[in-house]
Amino acid sequence: MASNITFTMIKPGAVRNGHIGAILNEINKGGFKIVAMKYTKLSAEKAGEFYAVHKERPFYGELVEFMSSGPIVAAVLQKDNAVEDFRTLIGATNPADAAEGTIRQLFATSIGENAVHGSDSDENAQIEANFHFAGTEMFS
Ligand code: ATP
Ligand code: MG
Repeated sequence: MASNITFTMIKPGAVRNGHIGAILNEINKGGFKIVAMKYTKLSAEKAGEFYAVHKERPFYGELVEFMSSGPIVAAVLQKDNAVEDFRTLIGATNPADAAEGTIRQLFATSIGENAVHGSDSDENAQIEANFHFAGTEMFS
C-alpha cells in the first residue's frame, strides 16, 4: 500500500443521523481520493481491539460500546500529507473545540460521539487500513 494514506471511519452516530453523504462530500472537497471503502459493523471485540491503546482510559468501555452500536463506513483515503491534512479537515476531538467548518464541528454531537475517526500517524494509518481491508480491496 502506498504511503500518503490515512484511515477513517464515519462513526455509528453520524451514520444514524444521516450524515454519510455529507461527510463523504467534505472528504471529496478536501482533495482526498477514496482508495477503499465499506459499510460494515464492528463487533465489541473488534472495536476494543481497534482502540486498545485507550484500554486504561476511563472512557474506554463507553467508546467500545458506542463504536459497536451500529454500522460504520470505513475508508482508506489518499492525498499528499494525508494524516495531518485529514486531522485538520475533521477538527479537534471535542467538537466544542473544533474549528468552524470542520467535519466534527459540523456533524459531531459530543466528544464521545464525534462523527469520524482519523489516523494519528503514517504507521497507524497502515495498521488501521490493514485491520479493515485486504490488499485486494484497496485501489490506489
Ligand atoms: P479518533 O482516534 O477516534 O480519531 P482522536 O484521535 O481525536 O479520535 P483519541 O484521543 O484517539 O482522539 O480518542 C479516541 C476516541 O475516544 C475519541 O474520538 C472520542 O470518541 C473518545 N474520547 C476521547 N477522549 C474522551 C473523553 N474525555 N470522553 C469521552 N470520550 C472520549
Ligand atoms: Mg485517535
